[in-house]
Amino acid sequence: MDYRLPTTVVPSRYDIRLEPDLEAATFAGQETVAITVSEPVSEILLNAAELVIQSVSVQTADGPVVEGSASLDEAAERARLAFPQPIPPGEHRLTLAFTGVLNDRLHGFYRSTYKDAAGVSHTIAATQFEATDARRGFPCWDEPACKAVFGVTLVIPEALAAVSNTRVTGESPAGPGKKAVAFADTIRMSTYLVAFVVGELEATPPVMVGPTPLRVWCVPGKLHLARFALDIGAFALDYFERYYGLPYPGDKLDMLAIPDFAAGAMENLGAITYRETALLVDETAASHTERERVADVVAHEIAHMWFGDLVTMLWWNGIWLNEAFATFMELLAVDAWKPEWKRWTTFGVSRAAAMAVDGLHHTRPIEFEVRAPRDCEAMFDLLTYEKGASVLRMLEQHLSGEVFRDGVRLYLERHRFGNAETTDLWKALGDAARLPIPEVMDGWIFRPGYPLVIVEPDGTGVKLSQRRFTYLPAAGAASEHWQIPVRVRASVKRGFVDKPVLLGAEALTVSLPAAPDWVVVNAGGHGFYRVQYAAPLLRKMTSALKKLAPIERFNLVSDALALAQAGLMPSPDYLDLTARFGEETDRNVWAAVTGSWGYVNRVIADDQRADLEALVRQRVQAAVERLGWEAQPGETELERQLRADLLRTVGTLGNDPATQERARALYARYREDESAVDPDVLPALIAIVAAAGGETEYDEFLQRFKAARSPQEEQRYLYALAAFRPPELIRRTLEKTTSGEVRSQDAPFLMRALLAGVHSRGLAWDYVKANWETMARQYPGSAYRRMYEGVTALVSPEWEREVGEFFTSRKIVLGGKTLEQYLEQLRIAVSFQEREGAALAAYLAKPPRPPRAR
Ligand SMILES: [Zn+2]
Repeated sequence: MDYRLPTTVVPSRYDIRLEPDLEAATFAGQETVAITVSEPVSEILLNAAELVIQSVSVQTADGPVVEGSASLDEAAERARLAFPQPIPPGEHRLTLAFTGVLNDRLHGFYRSTYKDAAGVSHTIAATQFEATDARRGFPCWDEPACKAVFGVTLVIPEALAAVSNTRVTGESPAGPGKKAVAFADTIRMSTYLVAFVVGELEATPPVMVGPTPLRVWCVPGKLHLARFALDIGAFALDYFERYYGLPYPGDKLDMLAIPDFAAGAMENLGAITYRETALLVDETAASHTERERVADVVAHEIAHMWFGDLVTMLWWNGIWLNEAFATFMELLAVDAWKPEWKRWTTFGVSRAAAMAVDGLHHTRPIEFEVRAPRDCEAMFDLLTYEKGASVLRMLEQHLSGEVFRDGVRLYLERHRFGNAETTDLWKALGDAARLPIPEVMDGWIFRPGYPLVIVEPDGTGVKLSQRRFTYLPAAGAASEHWQIPVRVRASVKRGFVDKPVLLGAEALTVSLPAAPDWVVVNAGGHGFYRVQYAAPLLRKMTSALKKLAPIERFNLVSDALALAQAGLMPSPDYLDLTARFGEETDRNVWAAVTGSWGYVNRVIADDQRADLEALVRQRVQAAVERLGWEAQPGETELERQLRADLLRTVGTLGNDPATQERARALYARYREDESAVDPDVLPALIAIVAAAGGETEYDEFLQRFKAARSPQEEQRYLYALAAFRPPELIRRTLEKTTSGEVRSQDAPFLMRALLAGVHSRGLAWDYVKANWETMARQYPGSAYRRMYEGVTALVSPEWEREVGEFFTSRKIVLGGKTLEQYLEQLRIAVSFQEREGAALAAYLAKPPRPPRAR
């Protein structure tokens, strides 16, 4: 079928009046759409879903009112408006009256509920229209290129507040106990960016950023959690106005925390909606990781106000650019706000996660053809956000920050209030840089996968060559090539050589003035490729770790693990490499190391777990002793977070009784005196107490989850419920994933955590098999899809067979290549287990002493 609406009738303006009934969970609406008809039509096609259209009429420009009738095609999500006589070409006004439901699926115009401190239930009506759910709120031309001006009026009970994309221009009485709130006209924008939020909401006083008032909205009693978001929000708004060289395109900026929210946040122009954890935070009680998350999401959404909202993709195939660019800008802004967070180094973790997916046979190009709009739902993944942002960063570094920024300015200037495609960005960047961008970029955008750069000694220099990296062998991988901007840094004769080269299909020798002490390829760490060093080069590097930047050490570990998973490095060699990092001080490098032990933990047999725990304890011991348990004066935030990360590792993965005992004692002190524990360490304590805990701790944590004072506190205790190990407690948590005790926005992620845990995965899998239909019904689609990522932890040939059979026989569709990716990741883990199992067991039973640090 044809997914695009005919272009014979296009809208330029909507005047929408909506009256939600929060108690009945319904709404009534009326809209008048200014349309341009280019040839005579006797019917008009537009999008509508789960709406009932009561009346249709067209006021023609110079003629009579023509009454029409509507029929809905629910499968196609379209309304067909038929008229007894043709509507002539011209500018006309189409008027529709309709009703709809406030659904519980967290899309379209939906209902979110929460309980206040007294336990009384309240309802909010909110919208989530991206990608294609504006049609559930009002009949419309629901395509990103059909931009229009929106004039919105919301009719609501007098006691409630209403927020939409623009400023309130007036309120007037609208019947008993009701008021009509009118909003200013929006800029010309796409339907997916329209937002309405109605409920008992409170707002902070505005922070003025130039002429723009910035506010945070939330349910009553939470305004004290808004300060941090306002700080990063004000910084980001100002930062982006300067970077883009264009004023903020709205007339105010509201950021709203919605108790039920499927995604992280949504960039509705002027009315950004968030899940509570991504906006509200008690900054004095939160850990670094929790604050960073809020800063990231806020900066990301504000970046979209220009890139996405002011200039919008022409069609859904361009969603990657929208998201990749906002992710890239989020990092730039947060890095400028808090340079001490070293955000580009931390981004290594996200880049590595994208590389893990992009190394699969079942990966996809960043950009691909999207016909059915639904197909783009699966585009909201690591490849779009993280790979996309990585290749933009690689390009920015290649062109220089200023040239890249100039190109972005040119692009926004050329296309503002309109739509654009990827090629338009390349054109603008190319014009700014006077370079042909597509030659370098097309391979990264339009082809799946990424390269492995192979480095070998060649005379006094090194020879670079490439092939495609895949975890499972792939025919033809050796002949696949990219244009790779590579930076080589070498230590030669007490000095450094730092060379940028562009590596193409032909092998390339980088000559050096003398034999190097060590060489690092992907210097600076921004490249989206892996590196395999010949053994002598690797040895030299690992004995000079302190000379490398943290991101370079991170990439060394991350690449080595991938090589081991792909069978290109023996697993004992990999584990030996992790022994070299005893003195490591960077938390991202530690995250790569401890994360890889977590992977090994899923692969080994239960009776080998004690050996792995011993290895983990031995290898983090020195770092844990160095950092201690308490924050020291003068420490950076990252050092504090590292302490917490390592304590968590030794107390959970390392299963260390002494650490668990001390965590319990410290947690007991925290209950008496909350200031007794460092805020960064507290989440780790909770995780450790859970991992070693029984029913008493479980009951307490459950209670604390229910009575949480901040979204972060709620999340800590919620996910701790998935970390308890006694089977009867695992069963209790499993039941909460379908009982309604946990919000449907969180339950799928709780389930994913249960599937991923080595102590809970068997029971969790049985529970999914028995309850998947309930889950499919209760969970929002995007989160339901992500829940199944947990099956990648079911590492055994028997489980693998069961998982395959489960999805086939139940005909479960996850969209895009998501399911194939999970199955392939499971295949990789099982084949790693089959290939390396004996070697891993032997190594863990008798690990070599760690080498002495130099
Ligand atoms: Zn985004």
